[in-house]
Amino acid sequence: MDVHSKETRSYNMSRIKGKNTKTEEKIRKYLFSRGFRYRANDRRYPGTPDIVLPKYKTVVFVNGCFWHRHDGCKYTTTPSTNTEFWLEKFKRNVENDYRNQTALTELGWQVIVVWECDIKHNFQKTMEQLEHQIVAGQ
Ligand SMILES: [Zn+2]
Repeated sequence: MDVHSKETRSYNMSRIKGKNTKTEEKIRKYLFSRGFRYRANDRRYPGTPDIVLPKYKTVVFVNGCFWHRHDGCKYTTTPSTNTEFWLEKFKRNVENDYRNQTALTELGWQVIVVWECDIKHNFQKTMEQLEHQIVAGQ
């Protein structure tokens, strides 16, 4: 089965490694240009957040919709081959996300999740919202 458009498919396939450094880089550049200072991929914290903003006690995860199961998103598809394998993998991803985010919240961090589809289709607006949330959450 392949009911997905070519665009959607290549979008998902490009996330096979689970990381999209280019998207993260774009967000980091934006935040830097707006005066925010951050640490990237800090392994000291649960889930290795993509962006850590110590001054605001905020961490940001940049999540791929396919891997992290963005609810109701058109990129949150399930491959029709090896479906059980994928479902198990997705379940683990979602559980890990939940556990890491809960742990960070308990440590006093504000956790913000940015979805890749929003970055892709609505960069400016998403960045404005992110900025607002970073500052408002402290
Ligand atoms: Zn999405």
